[in-house]
This record gives sequence, C-alpha cells and structure tokens, in this order.
Amino acid sequence: MIFHTILSIISIRFPLDDEFGVRLYSCLMEDCIFCKIAHGEIPARNIYEDDEVLAFHDVSPQAPIHFLVIPKRHIRNIMETDDSLLLGKLLYQAQKLAAALGCAENGARFVINCKFDGGQTVDHLHIHVLGGRPLAWPPG
Ligand code: AMP
Repeated sequence: MIFHTILSIISIRFPLDDEFGVRLYSCLMEDCIFCKIAHGEIPARNIYEDDEVLAFHDVSPQAPIHFLVIPKRHIRNIMETDDSLLLGKLLYQAQKLAAALGCAENGARFVINCKFDGGQTVDHLHIHVLGGRPLAWPPG
C-alpha cells in the first residue's frame, strides 16, 4: 500500500509520458513480470512492438491462439488509467493482430481481467486475445 502511494506521488511529479518518469517508474516496478518482458529482461514470444505497445504469446495458452497486448509502461489495471489514446492503441493492435493471426473470419475473444473479482493475476494491464476455437460463455 505504501509502495503504491509512493508510486502515485512519483507519477504526479513525473507524468508518465515523460521519459524520465517512465524509466523511474519502470525501475520501481522491478518485480513486475510484464515490465521485465517489455524491457527485454526476460524472454517472451513477441508478436508486435512499438514505442508504447507490446504483444506476445501467452505462456499458458487457453486456445490455439492466445496472446496478450500490454502497454510498455506500468499500468496496474484498466481502472488505473485515463489515457484514452493508449487504451485505443491497445485495442487497435489487439484487433489488428487477431486478424493477422487468422481470427478475422471466425472471430476471437478480447478479455481484460481486472483486480480480484475480475481474476487478474498479473498486475500490469493486458488484453487477452483468444481464438482458433469456439469459446464457452458465461465465464466461471
Ligand atoms: P490474468 O490472469 O488476466 O492476469 O492473465 C495473466 C496471463 O499472463 C496468464 O494468461 C498467464 O499465462 C500469462 N503469463 C504469465 N507470465 C507470462 C510470461 N512470462 N509470458 C507470457 N505470458 C505470461
């Protein structure tokens, strides 16, 4: 809790689109596995990368196609950002990559788990894209 309060204060002092702020923030988030993937510190099967967005295959796929789209900077979950441009970019890449990987005809599922009730296990915003088979509904 104290840790996240400190991070919030830092994010106000160093806005997240400020390069120094992003680097400082990333250092402080050294325990975040998706930050480490975003910075190339641990390997992943990357599909797409630009300045702000990274997509990579899920390490434990739940469908023939299962990849994740993340912001490179640390955002804990979908509730914790007002950056509508970045959210749009994440969704745009999820849609484009789903089509590129063969989901255009039959579709796919785009999922964002958030916090405890949403079943989020990695505290770094990510969009799951699942495709390649029919998926059941509702979720458990
Ligand atoms: P969630 O439960 O929505 O937070 O999803 C986290 C997802 O991250 C799960 O589907 C995991 O399989 C996936 N995951 C965890 N660690 C890695 C990793 N090192 N590389 C790729 N995917 C990962």
